[in-house]
This record gives sequence, C-alpha cells and structure tokens, in this order.
Amino acid sequence: MTSNTPEVPQAVCLDCHRCERGCPMLMAEGRSPHSLLQEQSTLDPQAAVACTECGYCEAVCPAGLSLQKAVQQHAGKKTTSQLAKLRIFTHQWLSFSSLLRLQKTGNGSYSHYAFMPGCSLAGGSPQTVQEVYRQLAEFFPGIGLVMDCCARPSAYLLSEKTTTTFLSKLEQGLKNSKIQKLIVACPNCFSFLSNKFPQLEIISLYPILASMPLPVCSYSEKLALHDPCQTRNEPGVHSSVRQILAACHISYEEFADNRQNTQCCGHGNMLAVTMPKLAQKQRLHRAGQTSCHKIVTYCRSCSEAFDLAGKKGIHLLDLIFDPQSITEPHDFQNHSQSTQEANKTWMNKKQPSAKRFKWYANSWINRILLKLRNCAK
Ligand code: SF4
Ligand code: SF4
Repeated sequence: MTSNTPEVPQAVCLDCHRCERGCPMLMAEGRSPHSLLQEQSTLDPQAAVACTECGYCEAVCPAGLSLQKAVQQHAGKKTTSQLAKLRIFTHQWLSFSSLLRLQKTGNGSYSHYAFMPGCSLAGGSPQTVQEVYRQLAEFFPGIGLVMDCCARPSAYLLSEKTTTTFLSKLEQGLKNSKIQKLIVACPNCFSFLSNKFPQLEIISLYPILASMPLPVCSYSEKLALHDPCQTRNEPGVHSSVRQILAACHISYEEFADNRQNTQCCGHGNMLAVTMPKLAQKQRLHRAGQTSCHKIVTYCRSCSEAFDLAGKKGIHLLDLIFDPQSITEPHDFQNHSQSTQEANKTWMNKKQPSAKRFKWYANSWINRILLKLRNCAK
C-alpha cells in the first residue's frame, strides 16, 4: 500500500452483510466485507475486474462505505486478457467504421435534436427503434437519428487514447449535424455521454415517453421490473418508467432491491467478457430474486442477461412498440442461435427497411459528393 492510498476506515463497517446480498466482487473474493475492509492490502488485483462498478455497496451500506472505492484503491489496475481486449476493439472498430455508422439529420424546427437508441437496442430491436423514432418525430418535427455506439466499451477495456479517438468520431458527427440535444434510450449511453459531452444536453427517453400518449398494451403475463444499475441515481427515470407501465396498463411486481438499491444483472463493466463464469453467477443470482419468469427492464444488455439466466428478459420498449417480437421464441443459450443473433444485430443496424436503406444510401451519396467536392478544390 502506498502513502497516498489511505484505507477506507474499517472501524465503521457494521458487519451487517447488507452489501453481500448483491455484490459480484464479494462472490469472487469469497470474504466477508468486514474482513475485506480490514485487510485491504491483501486484495487480489483481479478484484478490480470482478467489480462491476454497479454502486450497490454504497447505496445500501448503512455506514456509507463503498467497497468499490476500496477495490479501486487497493486492487490496482484492471488486468484484462488480450483476447477480451481484441474482441472489444473489433466491436468498436466495426461500430465506428464508415460502413456501419449511421447519422440521419432531420429537417424541421427540432433538427437540433436527435434520437440515439444505443447499439444494443438498434441491433436487437430494429422495429422498436423505428416505432419510437416515428413517435418522437410526431412531437419533435425534424428530429434526427444517431445509430452510433457511445464508445463506453472502449472506456471499460481499451486505452484512453483509443476511447478518445472513437469519442471524437461521435462528437464530430454530432457537431457536423448541428445536434445539441440527444434523446437517449440506453441507460449506459445516457450516463456515459452525460459525463463525456457536457456541452450537449443528454436527455433520457423515458421521462419524454411518460409525457406522451402511449398505446394500451394487451400483455397480461406476470412480469417483474428490473432497474438497470446505470439508473441508480436517476429517480426521475425510475418514476417515469413506472408511469409508462401504468399508462400502458401493464402490471408488474417490484424486486425487493429496486430503484436506487437495484442490483447488477451480471453484465456491468463488461463482466461477461472479462469473467464469464462470474457473470453467469450474478445473472442467476439476480434473476432468481423474483418468482416471475418474465422480467421487464429498460436496458437491452440487462434483458439479454436474464435470457442467459434461463428467464425471459423483455425490453420495455419492445413490450410497448413491438409486442409481436417478444412472443417469438428466443434462446440465447443456444450457441448457433446466438451466433445468428450476433450476425443479425450487425445487419439490423444498417438496413432493416427500405426507408432506412434510403437514409443509408443518401449518406453514402453525400459522402461521395463531399469527397468529389474536396478533390475539386
Ligand atoms: S460496485 Fe458493485 S461489484 Fe463493485 S464492490 Fe460495490 S457492489 Fe460490489
Ligand atoms: S453494508 Fe456497509 S456496514 Fe454492512 S457489511 Fe457492507 S460495508 Fe459493512
């Protein structure tokens, strides 16, 4: 331990075990929080990889302690396998390649607005994304569409330089399109971009949807509602999601640990890439806290975690805007199907419909015209 890394004072740990109920890092360490805080200097460096940075420990601790901070101070730098880094780099490189990016600007009084669904939702639920965009366009004429990745996977596992490069590409695109307000569906994109782009107004989709007329949903099966841990400090988003469910006449059960005390689904901090076995333990742990087989949430990554835990994860937006999609059989545990799913998600991002293909074609034509114009100068 160095002199500038003071120990988080263990004396105030009440040994209540409250944080143990939902901490994947403690699952991996196999120690009680009390003993871990007492012997911080003996922490395994891998503890930093096992911590999903979900914030659960601090949210529920009666003494206000943060195991996350203790781990970050004492377990040192994350050590991640080269294979995991390569997988993430490939994903990010493809996401930011000219071939697979799509930013559509609108024409109208809200052309400085854009809707950004996030790449997981765009890849997995193309019909839903189009329906949400259509609904937003009715209230915000001229709103644009940004199908880019937010670059958060780079920030988790790649170098700062690589993250900055990808973020700059996203920022430049938004700047060129004169977008000042970004309406974001993915809680991960929301928290990451709010932090990275203070010059832009990053707005969560859910409070906006809660103020709009929504279709009544005929879904009557028993559901549990899971709050993604990226929304932990967003009480307005929690309330809006419940308002949306009430407006659509969808009944649901709450998890005992919900809203600001919600637990990680097992996919936080790319745990599924860095420590897949631990990620599966946490998925099963969270999914097992409800007797409901179907779990509705508003993060695509969380809904996939519940599928992988043997339950049925449902994205709130699919439930409202594309209910047909959630009745189709879906088995992420089947490897060949999951490979097909992965291929499909890349295709979905690019050309699920003639309309989007037209935007895509237009963007290519624009790019060629721009290149020709630059050559002519
Ligand atoms: S942030 Fe989450 S994973 Fe990390 S120590 Fe706290 S509860 Fe555990
Ligand atoms: S919740 Fe806080 S007081 Fe209770 S065991 Fe965990 S660190 Fe200690």
